[in-house]
Amino acid sequence: MNPIWPCFHDPAYRPTHLERLDIHWKANLRMLRFPRDLGLFTVISLIPLLLLLLVAEWFPGPFQSGTATPRAPWVELESIVPAFVLLVLVFLVLQHLAFVTAMNLTYLHHVRAVLRDRGIPLCEQCGQLLSPDRPESACPECGHRRLATTLIDLDSPKNGEPLGHPSQDAAANHPQNGIRR
Ligand SMILES: [Zn+2]
Repeated sequence: MNPIWPCFHDPAYRPTHLERLDIHWKANLRMLRFPRDLGLFTVISLIPLLLLLLVAEWFPGPFQSGTATPRAPWVELESIVPAFVLLVLVFLVLQHLAFVTAMNLTYLHHVRAVLRDRGIPLCEQCGQLLSPDRPESACPECGHRRLATTLIDLDSPKNGEPLGHPSQDAAANHPQNGIRR
């Protein structure tokens, strides 16, 4: 897992800027259909803010103005600026790490699913480009093998069975059993 930025796909695959926008637009729409991913993304993204609130509670120094002995405003400002800048920098780094972690855990697989829907033979585990002739073979990079069941299959008449499964052909041959939604 790359902590700097998610690796959406093999660098060898180079979509144009417009294609990239379209891929991420569709991946965002796809993610909206998964409440678990949305919830997890929100929770992880809020962790740095919660930490900031805890720090403000435990070490109120940089957040407090006013001291027992009144001082000129610029003297007071000088005393809190270094701590405040450090706090903001740490917060921004943590926020970025949380954002990338959230994307890796909840968004990355939607991007890869959209790419596969566009016919790009991609490993869903690591994003490696697979052989176009044998997209179902094990990934040479991580050894992951794609499951036969996909989201589209779940919408098919026989849940959990890939389209074209022999049982569906049998059902299609018997009209009384072949009611399709
Ligand atoms: Zn792989």
